[in-house]
Amino acid sequence: MKIYIETYGCQMNVADSELVTSILDNSNFKIVREIDEADIIIFNTCSVRQHAEDRVLGRISNEMARKQTNKNLKIGVIGCMAQRLGENLQNQNKGIDFVVGVDQYKHLPEIISNIFENPHFESETMVNNKEIYEDLYPIHSGKLNAFVTIMRGCNNFCSYCIVPYTRGRERSRPADEILKEIENIGKKGYKDITLLGQNVNSYDFNNVNFAELLRRINRIETIERIRFVTSHPKDLSDEVIAVMAESEKVCEYLHLALQSGDDEILKRMNRGYSADHFYTIVQKLRKAMPEIAITTDIIAGFPGETEEQFQRTYDLMEKIRFDYAFTFKYSPRSGTKAAEFTDQVPEEIRLTRLQKLIDLQQDITLQKYREQIGKTKQIYVERVSKKSAEEMAGKSRDFKITVFPGSKELIGQFVDVKIIDAIGWTLKGKILE
Ligand code: SF4
Repeated sequence: MKIYIETYGCQMNVADSELVTSILDNSNFKIVREIDEADIIIFNTCSVRQHAEDRVLGRISNEMARKQTNKNLKIGVIGCMAQRLGENLQNQNKGIDFVVGVDQYKHLPEIISNIFENPHFESETMVNNKEIYEDLYPIHSGKLNAFVTIMRGCNNFCSYCIVPYTRGRERSRPADEILKEIENIGKKGYKDITLLGQNVNSYDFNNVNFAELLRRINRIETIERIRFVTSHPKDLSDEVIAVMAESEKVCEYLHLALQSGDDEILKRMNRGYSADHFYTIVQKLRKAMPEIAITTDIIAGFPGETEEQFQRTYDLMEKIRFDYAFTFKYSPRSGTKAAEFTDQVPEEIRLTRLQKLIDLQQDITLQKYREQIGKTKQIYVERVSKKSAEEMAGKSRDFKITVFPGSKELIGQFVDVKIIDAIGWTLKGKILE
């Protein structure tokens, strides 16, 4: 049977789709890249915002039309939305054949076989806070970069976030399994890996902490570059910063979500750090790695946010000068604590504040990119440029897309490129002979 998987949301979901691919492949299902070929369509979904859920529901409704011409077609939903809504999803769309939550993917082959044998609706969404999918190795979709999940779940309960409810409690994969997986994917030709977890800094398995895990991964010869997401400012230790600085494979890049520059709002968000603490970490990171690029997430208009509190966020962004910021207007997520706060900020104020942050960050990002002109960067060549067949594109160690004249044979190689221009958020350069 042929299965098509459509993935929404964060890198964790991309990694989970690769895990599901592996589980299904082990049971002799065939994963196809064209939806037209599929006997089963699986939507791997995201619940982080209502908009994300509405979008998937729209896609599911569209694809239901296929059942009129293909009576045997089955459609399933997995991921955070499956976990959050469970069998209620069938009330939203009667054509859904199965719903499987994030801890129950091992049962997918059996569930799919069952509904083909005897057509009925199945739902399996039990939370299993111990599930780490031991001894299962994902089949990676890309050819050059690979995500490696090092832990699952989250214990932090930030007041705006649904993830601890959909992905359960934090648990780390055994270090030996992670090292084995990375060594093997390196042998297959992947040189660039991204370690994944909701809060990688709190990785802990049998007294191996995240710093020690990074040290060990850095010693694996088959890979060249290591990045990781997501880091939590309250758990990013001096030890991790030191290991980042001394490990030649760990890239000079870090995504560190600030969310707000105001201490009172940070407290209401249940983030567990102050604006000062965040700023101190940034200073330590830049001292240890002067070339580090730091990106962030910011929420505009969190419940109760006053003009002064918003201004503190704006000022801190101006002071830190992130390389890039993913900015969002606060949107209430039902089931979270913040959605119940009674002092929600009106939509138009949220939007105005968001726009201010976007404008500010756009200027800073452009300046940051222009500051790269004249530097030489090591680029991992990943593809032909979208704009010209004569140009190649790849990423620098600080995660900036760089385009330069070159040929396809360079894909998968590392080249030194001198930066000669910055156009929008793309660097332009030429290879050094
Ligand atoms: S750390 Fe906070 S924002 Fe991140 S997944 Fe956990 S609860 Fe959500």
